[in-house]
Amino acid sequence: MEQCLFCKIVAGEIPADVVYHDDSVVAFRDINPQAPVHLLVIPVQHIDRLTSEAASDGKMLSQVFSVIARLAREHGLEKGFRVVSNCGEDAGQTVPHLHFHVLGRRCLHWPPG
Ligand SMILES: [Zn+2]
Repeated sequence: MEQCLFCKIVAGEIPADVVYHDDSVVAFRDINPQAPVHLLVIPVQHIDRLTSEAASDGKMLSQVFSVIARLAREHGLEKGFRVVSNCGEDAGQTVPHLHFHVLGRRCLHWPPG
């Protein structure tokens, strides 16, 4: 999607603090962190939200969650972290590209956008 903020980050058109990327998953730091560790993990493919038909792709979800587990280890979150996906406007989803917040070392505010 041409106008999508996260697609532009995937394409490198908008700078982001990218902590992981491969052909199917990209992860970067949230620009407005709500916890000492606050990462966003997204599929490269543009999918609007968790209720979109394309979001039930088991392979994509498994890749996303493998990256989440790897990043949690790399960021020292063995003692615990949260994974949140805000789905739709009532939940405060601010970017219409499926994304998972990874929050570690205690959340400062709740819920994240
Ligand atoms: Zn997108």
